[in-house]
Amino acid sequence: MGDMQHGIKFCQHCGNRLSEASIEGKTRQHCAECGHVVFLDPKLAAVVLIGEERRLLMVKRGVEPALGAWAFPSGYVDRGESVEQAAVREVQEETGLVVELNTMVGLYSRAESHVVLAVYDARITGGGLRAGYDAEEVDWFSLGKLPPLPFPHDTQILSDWLGLYPHWR
Ligand SMILES: [Zn+2]
Repeated sequence: MGDMQHGIKFCQHCGNRLSEASIEGKTRQHCAECGHVVFLDPKLAAVVLIGEERRLLMVKRGVEPALGAWAFPSGYVDRGESVEQAAVREVQEETGLVVELNTMVGLYSRAESHVVLAVYDARITGGGLRAGYDAEEVDWFSLGKLPPLPFPHDTQILSDWLGLYPHWR
Protein backbone atom coordinates (compact mmCIF):
# COMPACT_ATOMS: atom_id res chain seq x y z
CA MET A 1 0.00 0.00 0.00
CA GLY A 2 1.33 3.38 -0.99
CA ASP A 3 3.28 5.79 1.07
CA MET A 4 1.10 8.87 1.22
CA GLN A 5 2.36 10.70 4.29
CA HIS A 6 5.75 11.79 3.04
CA GLY A 7 6.11 15.01 1.11
CA ILE A 8 4.11 17.21 3.48
CA LYS A 9 5.61 20.62 2.77
CA PHE A 10 3.37 23.18 4.44
CA CYS A 11 2.06 23.62 7.97
CA GLN A 12 -1.55 22.42 8.40
CA HIS A 13 -2.15 25.20 10.91
CA CYS A 14 -0.56 28.35 9.50
CA GLY A 15 0.52 27.41 5.97
CA ASN A 16 4.15 28.26 6.58
CA ARG A 17 6.78 26.14 4.87
CA LEU A 18 7.92 23.26 7.12
CA SER A 19 11.53 22.57 7.95
CA GLU A 20 13.27 19.62 9.57
CA ALA A 21 14.10 19.70 13.24
CA SER A 22 15.39 17.18 15.75
CA ILE A 23 12.58 16.70 18.26
CA GLU A 24 12.89 14.24 21.12
CA GLY A 25 15.73 12.52 19.29
CA LYS A 26 13.95 12.09 15.95
CA THR A 27 14.10 14.18 12.80
CA ARG A 28 10.60 15.52 12.19
CA GLN A 29 8.92 18.13 10.02
CA HIS A 30 8.45 21.27 12.06
CA CYS A 31 6.89 24.72 11.56
CA ALA A 32 9.25 27.45 12.74
CA GLU A 33 6.37 29.96 12.56
CA CYS A 34 3.83 28.38 14.95
CA GLY A 35 5.75 25.48 16.46
CA HIS A 36 3.54 22.74 14.97
CA VAL A 37 5.30 19.38 14.72
CA VAL A 38 4.21 16.78 12.17
CA PHE A 39 3.90 13.38 13.83
CA LEU A 40 3.39 10.73 11.17
CA ASP A 41 0.83 8.21 12.37
CA PRO A 42 0.36 4.77 10.91
CA LYS A 43 -2.53 4.14 8.54
CA LEU A 44 -4.92 1.35 9.37
CA ALA A 45 -6.19 -1.00 6.68
CA ALA A 46 -8.75 -3.78 7.06
CA VAL A 47 -8.13 -7.08 5.25
CA VAL A 48 -10.77 -9.80 4.95
CA LEU A 49 -10.34 -13.49 4.20
CA ILE A 50 -13.42 -15.35 3.01
CA GLY A 51 -13.15 -19.09 2.48
CA GLU A 52 -15.61 -21.71 1.29
CA GLU A 53 -14.98 -25.37 0.58
CA ARG A 54 -11.17 -25.07 0.45
CA ARG A 55 -11.39 -21.99 -1.75
CA LEU A 56 -10.47 -18.40 -1.00
CA LEU A 57 -12.11 -15.29 -2.43
CA MET A 58 -9.61 -12.93 -4.03
CA VAL A 59 -9.75 -9.59 -5.81
CA LYS A 60 -7.71 -8.51 -8.82
CA ARG A 61 -6.54 -5.09 -7.75
CA GLY A 62 -7.68 -2.12 -9.80
CA VAL A 63 -5.45 0.36 -7.98
CA GLU A 64 -1.80 0.72 -7.07
CA PRO A 65 0.11 -0.67 -5.34
CA ALA A 66 0.18 -4.14 -6.87
CA LEU A 67 -2.19 -3.05 -9.63
CA GLY A 68 -3.42 -6.13 -11.49
CA ALA A 69 -2.30 -8.58 -8.78
CA TRP A 70 -4.72 -10.90 -7.01
CA ALA A 71 -4.97 -10.03 -3.35
CA PHE A 72 -7.21 -10.38 -0.31
CA PRO A 73 -10.05 -7.82 -0.22
CA SER A 74 -8.77 -4.81 1.72
CA GLY A 75 -8.94 -1.10 2.18
CA TYR A 76 -8.21 1.79 4.46
CA VAL A 77 -10.32 2.52 7.51
CA ASP A 78 -12.01 5.91 7.40
CA ARG A 79 -12.44 8.11 10.42
CA GLY A 80 -16.07 7.84 11.53
CA GLU A 81 -16.35 4.07 11.09
CA SER A 82 -15.15 1.18 13.18
CA VAL A 83 -12.46 -1.13 11.85
CA GLU A 84 -15.09 -3.87 11.60
CA GLN A 85 -17.42 -1.61 9.61
CA ALA A 86 -14.56 -0.76 7.25
CA ALA A 87 -13.83 -4.44 6.71
CA VAL A 88 -17.45 -5.20 5.82
CA ARG A 89 -17.71 -2.10 3.62
CA GLU A 90 -14.56 -2.88 1.67
CA VAL A 91 -15.73 -6.41 0.91
CA GLN A 92 -19.07 -5.11 -0.32
CA GLU A 93 -17.43 -2.42 -2.48
CA GLU A 94 -14.89 -4.74 -4.06
CA THR A 95 -16.85 -8.00 -4.38
CA GLY A 96 -20.57 -7.17 -4.14
CA LEU A 97 -20.91 -9.59 -1.23
CA VAL A 98 -22.37 -8.88 2.18
CA VAL A 99 -20.32 -10.51 4.92
CA GLU A 100 -20.32 -10.93 8.66
CA LEU A 101 -17.00 -11.08 10.44
CA ASN A 102 -16.28 -14.30 12.31
CA THR A 103 -13.10 -13.43 14.16
CA MET A 104 -9.91 -11.44 13.94
CA VAL A 105 -7.01 -13.32 12.34
CA GLY A 106 -4.41 -10.87 13.60
CA LEU A 107 -2.81 -7.45 13.50
CA TYR A 108 0.20 -7.08 11.22
CA SER A 109 2.78 -4.31 11.05
CA ARG A 110 6.40 -3.72 10.11
CA ALA A 111 8.77 -0.96 11.13
CA GLU A 112 9.47 -0.26 7.43
CA SER A 113 5.82 0.38 6.53
CA HIS A 114 3.34 2.96 7.78
CA VAL A 115 0.40 0.64 7.09
CA VAL A 116 -0.99 -1.55 9.88
CA LEU A 117 -3.26 -4.40 8.79
CA ALA A 118 -6.23 -5.59 10.83
CA VAL A 119 -7.13 -8.96 9.33
CA TYR A 120 -10.50 -10.68 9.73
CA ASP A 121 -12.10 -13.95 8.78
CA ALA A 122 -15.62 -13.55 7.40
CA ARG A 123 -18.56 -15.50 6.01
CA ILE A 124 -20.94 -14.52 3.25
CA THR A 125 -24.47 -13.62 4.29
CA GLY A 126 -25.81 -11.94 1.15
CA GLY A 127 -25.15 -9.96 -1.99
CA GLY A 128 -23.99 -11.22 -5.36
CA LEU A 129 -20.44 -11.68 -6.63
CA ARG A 130 -19.35 -8.92 -9.00
CA ALA A 131 -16.16 -6.90 -9.33
CA GLY A 132 -16.80 -3.48 -7.86
CA TYR A 133 -14.97 -0.33 -6.92
CA ASP A 134 -11.15 -0.74 -6.91
CA ALA A 135 -11.39 -4.29 -8.31
CA GLU A 136 -10.85 -5.50 -11.87
CA GLU A 137 -12.11 -9.03 -11.15
CA VAL A 138 -13.19 -11.17 -8.24
CA ASP A 139 -12.88 -14.93 -8.17
CA TRP A 140 -12.49 -18.02 -6.03
CA PHE A 141 -9.14 -19.82 -5.90
CA SER A 142 -8.45 -23.32 -4.61
CA LEU A 143 -6.21 -23.10 -1.58
CA GLY A 144 -3.67 -25.34 -3.31
CA LYS A 145 -3.58 -23.10 -6.40
CA LEU A 146 -3.45 -19.55 -5.13
CA PRO A 147 -1.89 -16.90 -7.35
CA PRO A 148 1.33 -15.18 -6.18
CA LEU A 149 0.55 -13.05 -3.15
CA PRO A 150 1.74 -9.45 -3.57
CA PHE A 151 2.23 -8.05 -0.06
CA PRO A 152 4.86 -8.76 2.62
CA HIS A 153 2.51 -10.13 5.29
CA ASP A 154 0.38 -12.23 2.95
CA THR A 155 2.08 -15.58 3.54
CA GLN A 156 1.91 -15.14 7.30
CA ILE A 157 -1.71 -13.99 7.12
CA LEU A 158 -2.66 -17.00 5.02
CA SER A 159 -0.91 -19.37 7.39
CA ASP A 160 -2.53 -17.80 10.45
CA TRP A 161 -5.96 -17.85 8.77
CA LEU A 162 -5.58 -21.54 7.84
CA GLY A 163 -5.05 -22.15 11.54
CA LEU A 164 -8.78 -21.46 11.86
CA TYR A 165 -9.55 -24.14 9.26
CA PRO A 166 -7.04 -26.92 9.92
CA HIS A 167 -9.10 -29.44 7.93
CA TRP A 168 -8.45 -27.32 4.80
CA ARG A 169 -4.69 -27.58 5.00
ZN1 LIG B 1 2.64 26.63 11.45
